[in-house]
Amino acid sequence: MPNSRTRIVPEVDFAKDGRQHGFLRLFHSVHSSAYGFIPIPIVVLRNGDGPTALMVSGNHGDEYEGQVALCNLAKSLDPARIRGRVIILPAANFPAAVAGRRTSPIDEVNLNRSFPGDPDGTVTHQMAYYIEHELVPLADLVCDLHSGGSSLMYVPSVQLPGYRRDADMSAPLAMMKAFASPLAYVTEINIGADRTLSGGAARQGVPSLGTELGGSGHVTGAALRIAERGVNNLLVHLGILPEGDRIALDGPSRILEVGGPDYFVYAPENGLYEPLVELGDMVRAGQPAARMHFPETPWAEPVTACFLRDGFVLCKRMPGRSMRGDCLFHLGTDLAV
Ligand SMILES: [Zn+2]
Repeated sequence: MPNSRTRIVPEVDFAKDGRQHGFLRLFHSVHSSAYGFIPIPIVVLRNGDGPTALMVSGNHGDEYEGQVALCNLAKSLDPARIRGRVIILPAANFPAAVAGRRTSPIDEVNLNRSFPGDPDGTVTHQMAYYIEHELVPLADLVCDLHSGGSSLMYVPSVQLPGYRRDADMSAPLAMMKAFASPLAYVTEINIGADRTLSGGAARQGVPSLGTELGGSGHVTGAALRIAERGVNNLLVHLGILPEGDRIALDGPSRILEVGGPDYFVYAPENGLYEPLVELGDMVRAGQPAARMHFPETPWAEPVTACFLRDGFVLCKRMPGRSMRGDCLFHLGTDLAV
């Protein structure tokens, strides 16, 4: 990229055939390490000309399903069997991933609210800049593996950002269906908007797909299987792996959409949250979603938060202690296509 002003130096050669691993050197001069760098691991597999997939996890460090899936992919994928290139970035916000936190403990910045980044910014802004201006332009598809992290739990899903009713969405929908997750959802307005990696991919004209694979700070076998099948099938969809490698899903995917603010329920008070529905429930507008209790004032009446519309409970907050403004639930509704 002739116009890129990144200061990050990769140890791998993106044009070289075979399997390479190494680090992106993000120089960070601090009291304990004058000339040191933050070593962000990266794996590149290439076999001649062909499409490139950029597989990312650890964008939020406390979302583990994708990180496990990409650690496995980095070792199991045979460069001799692929056509083109796979770039694997399993711990995109490396300091956050090592700390098991959503944000970097170095600058407290959320990588997925930092795009397009800044080559002269703090370490997380420098990383966002590198991903958007150096890695994304190499790719024909960006897959950014998220989950609910520490505070949220999702019904494991693949997610298509940037959905538009007034455009031909057949190609992105085919890509989403190729992931073969039992549940999929589309969003017109992405949470985090153009400051996310998917926003950066859109700016660079590269298709992207996300996931919400589970969450609550742990990994389930079921979510991991969805992640690994999806990543494998995306490589087949791009023609990087042969068609015979596709792993079929038993039955069709259910496709939802997540729309505007009425899909979300927030804590109305500071207190202790009692959920009144569970993940996967179908709910109605006006139905109580949660009660907020006040252990400091146990004689006070709880305050009830209600759903604003009908829908499927796609996401649920996990910690009991909650503050006014915390997201407790969000819904999806079946997509009419
Ligand atoms: Zn995330």
